[in-house]
Amino acid sequence: MTFAICLKCGEAKHGAWISCSACSFTPDDDESMTKSLILTDHYQNVEALTSMAAAIKSGRAVSFDPGLLKEMWVDSKAINRSTRNCAVGCVVAAVIGLAGSGWIIWRWL
Ligand SMILES: [Zn+2]
Repeated sequence: MTFAICLKCGEAKHGAWISCSACSFTPDDDESMTKSLILTDHYQNVEALTSMAAAIKSGRAVSFDPGLLKEMWVDSKAINRSTRNCAVGCVVAAVIGLAGSGWIIWRWL
């Protein structure tokens, strides 16, 4: 489980891109998705996350290393595309699976 903090309010949440239960902010563009990814225990230690959370909660802006942002940059459109492709792939696999098991049952009758 990924420990993350909300980019907007600094509350803890599980997963970088899920919506925040405290302020309902959901990262949905390239910049907020990239920054949210950096604000997780995959890229920060607990001390760093705690101090970043405290900074956000007190209204101070968290400064992100431009080099890290560039390296981590998330293409939200590509993410949405690959999610859609996976959904289509899963439906196709399910249909093939159903057709296959239907054929086996038909053979037994
Ligand atoms: Zn929040």
